[in-house]
Amino acid sequence: MTSQAPVLRFAPSPNGYLHLGHALSALEVDRWARALGGRFLLRIEDTDLSRSRPAFVEAIFEDLRWLGLYWEEPVRHQSEHLGTYGAALQSLWDQGLIYPAPASRSDIQREVARREASGQPWPRDPDGGVHYPFGARDRQSRPAAMPTEGPLRLDLAAALERLGEPKLTASTLDDPGAEPKPVPVDPGLWGDVLLRGRDRPATYHLAVVIDDDLQGITHVVRGIDMEPATAIHRLLQALLGLRAPLYHHHRLILGDDGRKLSKSEGAKSLRALRQRGTRPDAVRAAIGWPTPRSP
Ligand code: GLU
Repeated sequence: MTSQAPVLRFAPSPNGYLHLGHALSALEVDRWARALGGRFLLRIEDTDLSRSRPAFVEAIFEDLRWLGLYWEEPVRHQSEHLGTYGAALQSLWDQGLIYPAPASRSDIQREVARREASGQPWPRDPDGGVHYPFGARDRQSRPAAMPTEGPLRLDLAAALERLGEPKLTASTLDDPGAEPKPVPVDPGLWGDVLLRGRDRPATYHLAVVIDDDLQGITHVVRGIDMEPATAIHRLLQALLGLRAPLYHHHRLILGDDGRKLSKSEGAKSLRALRQRGTRPDAVRAAIGWPTPRSP
């Protein structure tokens, strides 16, 4: 069945309990879906097999219901669609745009430290990850066939060359009623991003663009911390011939230290708040969300 209605999604990763930042994000997606007369989907982004836990998936359902949110069934669990992401990797491989990058995290850190010791700052991705320092060597020893497992990275230079002109833009919206604005995005700020890892048959960047297309997502509403990633997402969409949704990036909830909340801060988890007797209205108030009017 196809539908003309806008389609939105909240897409948490089940590697910890949801916190106040997730509550804001889920409520924003719901608010946009209502304002647009659209659908609200929930997607479980569980391709990080070493960190995802079924108990966290259950907790996501419970915590969102407790907040008063409803979503369509069935819920898409990315771990059930690994073949789909594998096919996309094969297509990128066939285009000569990815290569095996076997170095471990500690190899990478050691090499970057060695290079930085000579006084040269080593480039970092907008999310803080260091650029892969063995790209030249690994691109050269690329085998004829794609290995069935192990890390694979995007050859960013080759990808940008394939893309050619014109430069990429993302269509963004400030509020649900606004006209979309094209904003230039620059994937060149990133290094050779990881698309498959050791315990990750597909990384977030790959799986998200495929699912947004497959599920017909029209509006991606997510935290502003994800804004720089939009450049990589637009690039992958272009390389894989996927549709690009409209984007809106919302404010973040910061912790007492002024930094964005992380899943390791259990005290701010919705679960812990609920166990301490906090009511959903108080959670809404804590994140500056208007309390629903009683009927
Ligand atoms: N799984 C990602 C996260 O939890 C979702 C980001 C997005 O909405 O694209 O941060």
